[in-house]
This record gives sequence, C-alpha cells and structure tokens, in this order.
Amino acid sequence: MDFYRNEAVTEHITRIRAFWNDACVYYVRGEKSGLLIDTGYGFGDLKAYVDELAGQPYEVVLSHGHLDHANGAGQWESVYMSHKDIDLYRQFADIASRKNFLSNYVKNLDTYPDSLYVPVYDREFLDLKDGDTFDLGGVCVETIAAPGHTQGMMTFLVREDRTILFGDACGVFTLFVMPEASSLEEFMVSMEKLKSRETEYDRILRQHGTCESPKSLLDEDIAIVQSILDGTDDHEPFVFNGIDCFIARAVDPITKRRRDGKEGNILYIPAKIRAEK
Ligand SMILES: [Zn+2]
Repeated sequence: MDFYRNEAVTEHITRIRAFWNDACVYYVRGEKSGLLIDTGYGFGDLKAYVDELAGQPYEVVLSHGHLDHANGAGQWESVYMSHKDIDLYRQFADIASRKNFLSNYVKNLDTYPDSLYVPVYDREFLDLKDGDTFDLGGVCVETIAAPGHTQGMMTFLVREDRTILFGDACGVFTLFVMPEASSLEEFMVSMEKLKSRETEYDRILRQHGTCESPKSLLDEDIAIVQSILDGTDDHEPFVFNGIDCFIARAVDPITKRRRDGKEGNILYIPAKIRAEK
C-alpha cells in the first residue's frame, strides 16, 4: 500500500498526506536545502518518502508536541521543537496512544504490524524559538511562536510565498480542552501577534480537514475569543474525545460546520477562559 502522496501548494511548499488523511505535513523547498514541517503520527516510513521527494539536504521542525504531528520524529537524527512541549511529546509517544488516535482514521488498524510504528525520539530536541529563521536559498521560513493550543506552539511564515502555516495554532476547531493549553486570555495575545504580521501573508495553511482557510479565519477566531471572554458566545455543550466541553459557535450536528457559514471555532472548558492569577 502507498502510505503517502503529495500535492504542490505554492511555489515552494508541498503538502504530504498520509492515506488516512489526517495531520498532513509540509515540505518547503529552497535552492540549497529544504525544511520538513511536522512528522505525522509516526506510522509508516515517512522518512523514505520525504528523502526521495526532497533529493536535497533538509532539516526537520515540529509545530508542536502533539502526537499526530510529532511522533514521526524518531526517524530523524536531529529535530527542532520548542522545549516547552517536550513533556507533552513524551507523555503520548507510546504506541498505545498513537493507536488510540489513529483508530479514528484507519480502518482495521489492528491488522497492521507494530513494526510500522516509528520508535520514540530519544535524543535531545533542538530548541525551536520565536524568530528563528531557516534560509533555504531563495526562500526563507520564519518561526513565529503562538502559544495557546500548546505552550510550545509555533507557526511558520514562508515569506517569499506570502503564506503562513498555522498548524493547530488557530483553526476550525481550535482546542482549549486539554491541560497543555494556555488560557484563552493568553491565546488572545498570540492572535494579536499573528494579526500584526497579517500584511506579510495572503494564505493560511493548516494540517487537518481542508488544510487551508481564508485569511478571515484569524479575525473570526479573535472575535470568538473576545465573545467567550465577554460571555456572549453560543456556549453550546460539546463532547470532544470523551471530554465534556463547550463550542463557542453553534454547529450543525451532522456536518460540524458553523450554522452561519463561517469557519473559525473554538472548543473550550471554563477553566481555560481566564489566565491563572
Ligand atoms: Zn495539536
């Protein structure tokens, strides 16, 4: 079976999807070298696929430490990730956690051998920091920290392509239901920072669902967070992965799309609204 396929997104960016079609990864190609952004679930030989696709030296960075983005890291010698997410990565790096999530997407997952699961990354992560730049030759990628979804959450601005990779930082179902999330009050600061860079990009790429959103997504999420802080959001009960939470904008129960046709939405628990004093 072919595990992966790819599609060109911009002049320098290629999207790589696994057959289960969740948590895509991106490859940015420069004239001298490349940059792989995220490594997926760590199920199947992504490295062999990327090595062949790249045909050039490249570095590997992780947008954040969640298992669906970071668990392929064990295939590479050195990987960049914010040190703020190391504990989070380790917590869910085992095969059982991956199986638990992947079973939502892969039919008959039990029929696949355990040898397909990439070993845990046991070396020290290179610390990825706000403002780090990767000059690939003719294209430069800048890291912009956007803590919220996790403490070490990073977005990536591909300047020459006027494109930003939001990852899970800000999206259609931005999650504030797990312990690793900041408060929405703190997340607002991250979104204002991304807003201040808005003149530098025209496209927003993500890694779940449609993997792309109109530029209005950021304004939508800012408005949603403001309404949660004001207590004027729709505040509808919702269950995510067995966790009771609230969804800020009402969605159709079948399609999970917003009833007003817009994209942005936020799932949250009340404890994540205000910063801890
Ligand atoms: Zn995530």
